[in-house]
Formats: sequence, structure tokens, C-alpha cells
Amino acid sequence: MGTGIGQVIIALGSNISPEKHLRDGLAQLRRWIHITATSQVYRTPPWGYTGQDDFLNAAVAGQTELPPVELLNRLMDTEALMGRVHTIPNGPRTLDLDILFFGNLVMDSEQLTVPHPRLHERGFVLLPLCDIAAEFIHPVLGRTVSDLLDAVDLAGIEPVGLVLPA
Ligand code: ADP
Ligand code: MG
Repeated sequence: MGTGIGQVIIALGSNISPEKHLRDGLAQLRRWIHITATSQVYRTPPWGYTGQDDFLNAAVAGQTELPPVELLNRLMDTEALMGRVHTIPNGPRTLDLDILFFGNLVMDSEQLTVPHPRLHERGFVLLPLCDIAAEFIHPVLGRTVSDLLDAVDLAGIEPVGLVLPA
């Protein structure tokens, strides 16, 4: 693999001072990603571990020169910078940054799976993703984001009336 520009889509989620952490997280992403599109921000009831505050979720698209694993490492550094501590699985978090797609790349390593292995099951990921990449075809499932969205439960997920600054 030589150097090149990759089209990447990132999901952002937070349920601790979430508006601040989405904004600050996006500001960090701009260090490595030329952001070309941003979704609306959605409020999502917590799932898995329900004794916690609602989440705000969003997605952004852009171009990067970083290879996928290097980008992942920067994202994890950013999560740490925002004070994320990994305690309860699916528990409260200052900032979660997931790589949803990296162009049409398909990879599955211990560190990184792309496309994100659970994106097609999650309304709170697919709804913002649909704002910015509705017609993108999932390189493994062969279906558009819009089709994937039609198949999931969106109960309780609502736009908060805010779009992250592009
Ligand atoms: P989740 O995002 O599913 O709630 P975590 O953020 O706690 O879970 O999981 C982080 C781990 O997931 C990281 O250690 C990272 O190596 C791994 N991972 C695998 N694929 C991806 C991906 N596409 N995007 C982000 N993290 C990923
Ligand atoms: Mg994550």
C-alpha cells in the first residue's frame, strides 16, 4: 500500500458533557482529517448499561493521509485526552470515536475492523451516517447506508436541532 488520500467516516458519541465533547473531539479530528461533511446531532437513550445519561451521536466524513491503524491510534489518543476511562462495557463515556468506513477498505485485525463490525445494527450510528453518506454502499454487505437504516429500530433517537460545524 503506498501513500494516498483516504475517504474516512468517523462516528462520535458522548454522554458526559456531550455537546462539549463532540465539539472538542471534532476540533481534534481536524488535525488529521480534512472534514468535508458533518451530520446532525442525535440524542439516543443509553442501551446495554441503562443507568446512565442519554448519548449525543454524530458522524463526520473527510479526507486523510494517515493509514487506517495510525488514524485509529490518533483517535484513541484523543479519547484519552478527553478523559475517557474504560470501565463498564457500554458505560458512560466522555468521547467514543469509531472508524465506520475507510473508503472501500475491508480489514479485520486485532486492533482494527473496518467497516466497523456493528455499524449496521445500530440506529444511533446509521441515522447520522445517513445524513452524510446515504448512498454509500457497505463494502461487505453490498447495501446502501439508506437500506441498512431501513432495517433497524430507531425508537427514542431524535435530532437535537444541531449540526456540527463543517
Ligand atoms: P465501542 O466503540 O464498541 O463501544 P470501545 O470504544 O471501548 O468500544 O472499543 C475500542 C476498541 O475497539 C479499540 O481498542 C480498537 O482497537 C477497537 N476497534 C476495532 N475496530 C475499530 C473501529 N473500526 N473503530 C474504532 N475502534 C475499533
Ligand atoms: Mg469505540
